[in-house]
Amino acid sequence: MITGGKMDVVKYREDSEKFLYKRDKEYYLHFSGQKDSLNVGKISEEFRHLFSTDNIKWLRDLKEKSSGEGKRKNTSLLKFCVEGYIELQVKDLVDKIAADEAKAKIVVDDKKIPFRYSEILLTNEPDKTRRDDIDDKRNKLVAEYLNTDLYEYWQTVHRQAVNLGFSSYSDLFSYLNEVDFSALAAGMEKLLVETDNLYEKHFGALLQEELGIPLSCSHSRRSDFAFLKRARKYDRFFKKSALVPVLKGTLYEMDIDIHKYNNIYFDVEERENKSPRAFCCTPHVPSEIYLVVMPSGGQDDYEALLHEGGHALHFGSTSPGLDFEYRYLGDNAVTEGYAFYMELLMQNREWLMDFPGMDKDVAREFAYFSNLLKLWFCRRYAGKLKYELVLHDGSPIKGKESIYREILSKVNLMEYPEEDYLRDVDDGFYCADYIRAWIFQSQLKVYIYDKFGYNWYKKKKAGSFLRELWNYGQKYTADEVLSQLGFGGIDVNYLIGSLTDDIRNF
Ligand SMILES: [Zn+2]
Repeated sequence: MITGGKMDVVKYREDSEKFLYKRDKEYYLHFSGQKDSLNVGKISEEFRHLFSTDNIKWLRDLKEKSSGEGKRKNTSLLKFCVEGYIELQVKDLVDKIAADEAKAKIVVDDKKIPFRYSEILLTNEPDKTRRDDIDDKRNKLVAEYLNTDLYEYWQTVHRQAVNLGFSSYSDLFSYLNEVDFSALAAGMEKLLVETDNLYEKHFGALLQEELGIPLSCSHSRRSDFAFLKRARKYDRFFKKSALVPVLKGTLYEMDIDIHKYNNIYFDVEERENKSPRAFCCTPHVPSEIYLVVMPSGGQDDYEALLHEGGHALHFGSTSPGLDFEYRYLGDNAVTEGYAFYMELLMQNREWLMDFPGMDKDVAREFAYFSNLLKLWFCRRYAGKLKYELVLHDGSPIKGKESIYREILSKVNLMEYPEEDYLRDVDDGFYCADYIRAWIFQSQLKVYIYDKFGYNWYKKKKAGSFLRELWNYGQKYTADEVLSQLGFGGIDVNYLIGSLTDDIRNF
């Protein structure tokens, strides 16, 4: 249908924007509990013309032949097109997996518990034996009931990469994202090596003290982390009723009045089928942004809202005059980086005193705890990237479950279930975006602390600085934003330094 030329790009952008509007609105309505069914497959079908192999060829050609701004935009469009094309090839399978997962149940105490809800049960279960029992039942269900379709899903997706002329799925995404995954993995290997002792000593002591379990694969499991992270002992500082006011109050301090943003909608209404985790939907950037919350309280609920609030502010502050590619597409490490930046408040001792109202000692203890969780996550993602590079290297999937268990268990020193080897995987190497976002955040932190101080969140100038950055949407990559701030680009040493300093200086 599309044969090339300037006008066609204009039409392609317009239709893509319409597609994303419909799709994100559908996600919003479904996950906020206002619409039972989720008809994303039908919407993709309606816009099928956008995601053809002809268009991939056309956009790839445009990308290769263009330079400067043109190349930047065509790179984003090509990635959007390829991802949409791959999604179309597996859409029935995706629907089936989601439906099966939604119906699946495990039996706990003679009661049938929905598989999805059992995760919340696990998070709140203080008894280790019972936690292991729930975990075993979940893993068994994944192996017997979900993995067959997941296997077919990844096999089909891998085949698409080869059909498009790439040697593997990782080669395809390295090309689309313009990120050298091997170099990133090498940086994360350095992070692992340099934090090994620190992790074993500090995280090990925390796990022993809070859960009474030694940190080693023969004693602890990944599911124990879920309970540790829930951290009920801090609930009194993270009340359900204060969740949204704390976010608004923090922003108000830096002169960001979210009420004056007529484009960010706070959906805080309680609905039966609303997602328990906060999320952000962006049907139209910047004029229609939803920040959806089902407040439940607890430290992880606060952290999730700060994260999603970061996305909402970023997209809600994006200049309406920017082209489609810069408002919706681009380098996702940027928006994730801004979201992680807001999360940093959970490790800021002064903020913990000012907002959740901790005293000095508790704030110090909590910041330390939160930093250790972050170290756990960074190590987990180092392992994830390493494993996903093996999973997606073009060789057969069969037999890779033991590689998953070995790599992930080794980085966290907690046993990971091999049954999760096809489920605990991000599409399109999103794990690399998260890693780059953590690095981006640690560099932005150095810049902001330097310029505005440790209590930057109380400075109007810090607010206007962030608004200025957000204004560019995702026009620039994470590397480019950092270069503009005087860094030589993304540098893992800042993340390593930030993690080790914050834990050592406790
Ligand atoms: Zn995010």
